[in-house]
Amino acid sequence: MSRDPRYDVLFEPVKIGPVTAPNRFVSMPHAIGFSYLMPNGAIGIRETRAEGGWGIVAMQLSEIDPTSDLSGLPYERLWDDEDVKAHARSVARIHAHGALASIELAHTGIRSRGISNGYPAMGPSVVPTLKAEAPFMARAMDKADIRTLRENYRAATRRARQAGYDIVYVYASHDASVLWHFLSPAYNRRTDEYGGSFDNRLRLFREVLEETKEEAGNDMAVAVRFAVHEVSGPKRILNTGEGRAVVEALAELPDLWDVNISGWSRDSGTSRYDPEGFQEEFTSFVKQVTGKPVLGVGRFTSPDAMVGQIRRGVLDLIGGARPSIADPFLPAKIREGRIEDIRECIGCNFCVSAETIGVELRCTQNPTISEEWRRGWHPERVPKAPRAETALIIGSGPAGLEAALVLARAGHAVTVAERREEFGGRVAREARIKGLAAWGRVRDYRLYQLRQMPNVELYADSDLDADAIAEFGADHILLATGAPWRGDGAGRTRLDAIPGFVGVALSPDDVMDGAPLEGPIVIYDDDHYYMANALAADLAAKGHAVSIVTPLPSLGAWMSQTLEQPRMLGQLKSAGVEMHPNTTAIAWKGEGLSVFRSDTGDELPMIDGRSLISVTTRLPDPTLSQALSERGVAHRVIGDADCPGVIQAAVYSGHRHAREILGTEPADRVFRRERPMLFL
Ligand code: ADP
Ligand code: SF4
Repeated sequence: MSRDPRYDVLFEPVKIGPVTAPNRFVSMPHAIGFSYLMPNGAIGIRETRAEGGWGIVAMQLSEIDPTSDLSGLPYERLWDDEDVKAHARSVARIHAHGALASIELAHTGIRSRGISNGYPAMGPSVVPTLKAEAPFMARAMDKADIRTLRENYRAATRRARQAGYDIVYVYASHDASVLWHFLSPAYNRRTDEYGGSFDNRLRLFREVLEETKEEAGNDMAVAVRFAVHEVSGPKRILNTGEGRAVVEALAELPDLWDVNISGWSRDSGTSRYDPEGFQEEFTSFVKQVTGKPVLGVGRFTSPDAMVGQIRRGVLDLIGGARPSIADPFLPAKIREGRIEDIRECIGCNFCVSAETIGVELRCTQNPTISEEWRRGWHPERVPKAPRAETALIIGSGPAGLEAALVLARAGHAVTVAERREEFGGRVAREARIKGLAAWGRVRDYRLYQLRQMPNVELYADSDLDADAIAEFGADHILLATGAPWRGDGAGRTRLDAIPGFVGVALSPDDVMDGAPLEGPIVIYDDDHYYMANALAADLAAKGHAVSIVTPLPSLGAWMSQTLEQPRMLGQLKSAGVEMHPNTTAIAWKGEGLSVFRSDTGDELPMIDGRSLISVTTRLPDPTLSQALSERGVAHRVIGDADCPGVIQAAVYSGHRHAREILGTEPADRVFRRERPMLFL
């Protein structure tokens, strides 16, 4: 297939100071879950991106010295010469595919915790460290500290050069940089030449930038990553308008401006709240202020959106963090005119939750992420099966479709049977809930791929029972039949049914299937992710009076991991949804839900309603599997039917089971690991 000439502009080289990016695609710095402790896994992710056509591949935030202490979080270090080795290996693997390598050097200032290394966090003044709930303070840096910091920035830049990086970052974004903290009148209370006026608060940033340029010499370009706008609510860090003033003041100093918005939750906005390209309104001024190339993000997956920003003079380089997680081969697919093959990020931020809980990167769309080195999984290729066999997959949700795709790519003859009229299982139905339309991409990508393959048959409206499955006589049978929501109220904090729920409460499945609802609606949420609050927002938008009740202290607790919780609560508030956190159900009384305070056990007034929706847990139906076992028919149960969970887990399950069928997975399940070195 040939490329649409409209997209040619994306493949023009871009000169950045002394280096030239081969195209306009930049895989951005972001935490990948493999820290300096697991360099091989991290290299696997970056190399795959370089192979997939990203012209610049970034190393994540790398601390310049031990006083910047994010220990416990999966970041990188460039503290001394010993650290150079792993960086050099990473750079070499990126260069091997013709891409440039960049590194985001940082001192995290008052974002540090100062607990692991024993050096207190430090910043412009004595202020609390940035997590309000953490009982730590930062000490004020004196002149000697500032001199040392500048010298350590220089030393880290020299090491970056030694490692072979092409671009070095001066990082002042996401309120996670000491340079940003000095800029902030909220945190900078100094009365010396580093505090007070705008120029004084900018001084350290400017000094570090100038010195980084000196150290970078003629081999490395110097990028500034800076949040030009803050949309974090009432607690502002920069004065209004100073974001622009910083770009104006430093306009031609860096070789590249990498601009975004702050805080992190807004920079990484989800599809539920922010459309593709959402940062344009904040970043579009930058190119009018500087002649240097400008790089930005916006969950770009569509080449038209990318080209639009370039043509409108907003950006010169297109950054992708989540889009490069979901599809490391996104640039290659555009280059080759294979737009339909792009596995588009759905904007769910499950990847972010992997980082916030401290595990390797996980992705709803891309099950191979983090498995490149340790399991040898490639995002585009699967090993060919030694001989073509047949596989019957029951159910076309995320697990069934992913398993079908892997087995079909390996060369097996695959049949998918789906009882419903539409393919896609849970994602097809959830995508109809307000704000979740992008969930449908999980189905769309896989279904499109499967429909192109001659060795795949897809049957909708096909409810197969054990006899039919046995009679089909496939070599491999996979039950990907999902798990319906329970309607009896048994949930995560209370494991048994709630009186009055059985036969009365509607489950999310009932609601998605269009069950009639009348009067005020009470939604009982003992699930704590998106389903209850998404239904509440959806039903409120349709004009229903909605109350949402949850036993935990806050609604949608898991959404704090995906950075969405504050916006979700704001959305429900504006939609007029009544919220009852810390409230446990006693029983449904026909005219409302009787409840008690979760913490004290005190009974609370009844929450009135005519319809009840129970969003608690899901329970697979084992009948089909049992019937097959009774007939002696070997089969696998995969996805939600095996263990109900998030969509990411269902996709991953489908992928893993398919690879196990291909015989390439270790029988003892022990995959390749990074082992710490023993010194004794
Ligand atoms: P997962 O997330 O594990 O992929 P889903 O719930 O999304 O699971 O999808 C399961 C799909 O399986 C649903 O679309 C459902 O209609 C279908 N299904 C369940 N039982 C059968 C059956 N006996 N025959 C055919 N399809 C089935
Ligand atoms: Fe995109 Fe979701 Fe994957 Fe993150 S987890 S990259 S948001 S699809």
